[in-house]
Formats: sequence, structure tokens, C-alpha cells
Amino acid sequence: MELTAPIQDDPHAIVEMASLLADAHADTPVGAFFKVLSEDDSGNCPVCYSALPELNDGGAQNVRPSTSPFCTQGCRELAVCMCIMLDGALQSKAHEVIMLHLRDTLAQKALNIMQKIADKSSQHQRPLRRLLINLATACNQLPQSLFLKGVRLLTGSGDRLVAGGFSDVHRGRYNHQDVALKVLRIFSNTDEATRNDLKQKLQYEALLWRNLSHRHVLPFFGIDNHIFHRSPCMVSPYMRNGNVRHKAEGLIKRGYSPDDLYYLHYLFKWMHEIAQGLAYLHREGIVHGDLRGPNILVDDNRSIRLADFGLSVLSEAQSRENNSARGGNERWMAPEQLNPELFGTTSNRPTTASDVFSVGCVCIELYTAQKPYIGLSDYQVIDGVPKNRRPQRTNVVNNIERTVPGELWRIAEKCWEHLPENRPSIQWVVEATGELQVPDDWLQASSSARSVASRSASLAS
Ligand SMILES: [Zn+2]
Repeated sequence: MELTAPIQDDPHAIVEMASLLADAHADTPVGAFFKVLSEDDSGNCPVCYSALPELNDGGAQNVRPSTSPFCTQGCRELAVCMCIMLDGALQSKAHEVIMLHLRDTLAQKALNIMQKIADKSSQHQRPLRRLLINLATACNQLPQSLFLKGVRLLTGSGDRLVAGGFSDVHRGRYNHQDVALKVLRIFSNTDEATRNDLKQKLQYEALLWRNLSHRHVLPFFGIDNHIFHRSPCMVSPYMRNGNVRHKAEGLIKRGYSPDDLYYLHYLFKWMHEIAQGLAYLHREGIVHGDLRGPNILVDDNRSIRLADFGLSVLSEAQSRENNSARGGNERWMAPEQLNPELFGTTSNRPTTASDVFSVGCVCIELYTAQKPYIGLSDYQVIDGVPKNRRPQRTNVVNNIERTVPGELWRIAEKCWEHLPENRPSIQWVVEATGELQVPDDWLQASSSARSVASRSASLAS
């Protein structure tokens, strides 16, 4: 680094010094952050997100002198300062507090920069995401790259897909592919406070989801603010295979029994993939909070994609209280969530251990192709589970009594241990479900002659 002039009263000179340092030290965190920003080729300034003019248009007015992605010198200087602030915030609580006090345009620019760095850099992923979510929550804004342009709504019959408790799902098109549009159900008579609360929940889910990337987690494209004029909607790839319980029901309707090797092949594969997706979330410090068949989708390769992060929480977040009544489904909930007092706590916030409990329930759900606790009312489940009631091993499936295979049952039993601390880690479940695989030659034998029930029966011991 060479200094060409003495540093005098010019504040820009300090920034220039810092940016020279950032340039020269790409191996330091500040330098690495700045490098990500200065190599951005999205066509938008990574700081203010304004569209950049074309390069080399020859006009003297051109504010973009080089291939730099910053629209103005001001944005470039702010990027340097923000990288230094960000490095500080990731290292010390005191610096983090300062960052979390940013508001309005400065907060918006900080969010843009942080999302860009989170997208491109594999370092500091977890603390960076936590900071990003905390700042977004504090200032009630989102990085501008989350807002999409060019999303279309399909309005044919059957394009309105599912209606959930708080949201509807429609089919749309974006970037030449089919997408699912999840829109909050906000009625015209919904009061302002409720509407803001719902929007904040959506923002939180979007930001959490946007920063996930795993082969067994549904990708997230972003938010559309135009189609449904009162409500933003979340855009993700459309999964034509639907959810995993529908797939299991479909197999039963097509005449397969849950003890057929073909059925077991998918059951074992899906349980293993669900565990892998969840293990990724737990490694990233995220609790899913609502794991059940309808939230577990199947992609075009018949692989699992975990979805619906509306009730997910960061396991170490302080920014969001979850002590209020929750919308998760009781049939997959752990006893300590259904009756916290029994466990000496007042919080029914989901944990990694309650996620593992839900995995046990999903084992039974997918084997029977029905909700867990067949024959029990919701009340009996809510009342019974904290008193150690669990799903039955033998259930009627398609008018025939079926008993869950021994190895699968043992995994489920471990997952729904009564005390959270006695449940295994999700990594244990990944390994245990990995050993469940049906050998491929069995599968072929099974699909060519599906009535090999005697062989599959030996698995049910
Ligand atoms: Zn700019």
C-alpha cells in the first residue's frame, strides 16, 4: 500500500485509508467482507440497492468510473465503514449493540450489505445470520434483495393449493419455473396491530428461511409485494409431489401395504432424509418447531424437502419471545410443550429435543399414512402425552392390522423419551435411520412381485 498524499482534514481520506487496508488485507475479516461487496455483479449497488448504469457509456456524467459495483463514492465509503462495524459486532457484544441501534436508511443499507455477505461468504455464517435477524427485527426492515420482481400468479382452477391456519398457498411463475406463493390471510377487517404482528412473523420466517441451504430443505426465492396488494407473499419452488404424508397415502391407495419392501424403501429413505435436513437445521442453531408430515415436502427426485419455518426459532436468539400460545400441532408436540408446568418451566418454546420428539411421531405417521394417535381425540392427546401416552405400535391401516417394524419402532421410542434430556441428538437419528435402508436387490424383487409379504413380515419382528 502506498500513500500518495498526507492525510489532512479530509474525512474521506480516513475512509480511503481504511479501504486501502481492506483491499490489501483480503484475508482479514474486514477485507474479506469488503471483497465480497466489491466483487458483486448483481447489477445493483450492494449498499443502496439502486440499479447501476451500464458500464462504459462514455458520458462525462457517468458516476460509475470502473467495474466497481458501488453506485457512488459515498456508497463505497459506507461499505468500508459497515464492514469494519460488522467485524466489530461479530467479535464483541458492545459493538453489536451499536449495530443493533441503526435505524431507517442506515439500517436498510446495513441489512443489504449483511445479506450480500451472508449469500456469498461461507465464513461467520451463524453469528452473521443471528445479527442479521436481530437487526431486521429491531428496525422492522428486510434486506432489499429479498424482494422479487416479475412473479406472476396463475389463476386456473387448482392453482389455489392449500389453505393453512394463517395462510393460503397459490401457484405462480417466476424465472420460467412454477412456484408456490404463500400468502398470509389478512382480512380487510384485521386491525393494524394484528396486521403488523403477522407481517413481522412473515419477515422473520423469510429471513430465517432465506439463509438456509441444504439438499433436504426447501429453497426460498424471496418475497413478492405486488400480487396480493394487502399482504406480502413468500415465493419458493413448487413441489408437484406434495407432502410426504400425501405420498404415503398415495402408496396405500395404490394397493401397497406398509410392510411391502417398496413402501419400506421409501419410508426408510424419507426418515433418513428428514433426519439429515433436521440435523442441518440444528447444526445451524435453528429449531424447526413444527415438524410433521404436511410440512415435509417431496421434490421431483422423490427426496425430502423440509418446509414451513413459520414457528422456527434460533436456539440462541434473545430477540423473540415465544412464551405465548403457539400454533404448532399438538399431535407431534413433546410433553414439555403441552404441559410445561409438569416439567418445572413456563416456556413452551420448541427446542432441539422437542424436534427429535416430533421425528418419533413422524415415523408412525409415515408407516400408517395417518396422523399419529389414530382413534384418539385432540383432547386425549393433549391430556395423555404429558402422562406418558404415546402412539400405538399396532394400528389398522387400510382395514388390516399392521405392526411397526422393530428397528423403526426402537428409533421412535428413543425419540419420544419422556424427559427431553434423555432423547438422542438428531445426529444419532441420522445414523440410526441410515442403517434402516432396504437393500436395492430387495426393492427390485419387491416391485416385480409385490406380494412378498412373507419376507417383509420378517422385518416386523
Ligand atoms: Zn449505492
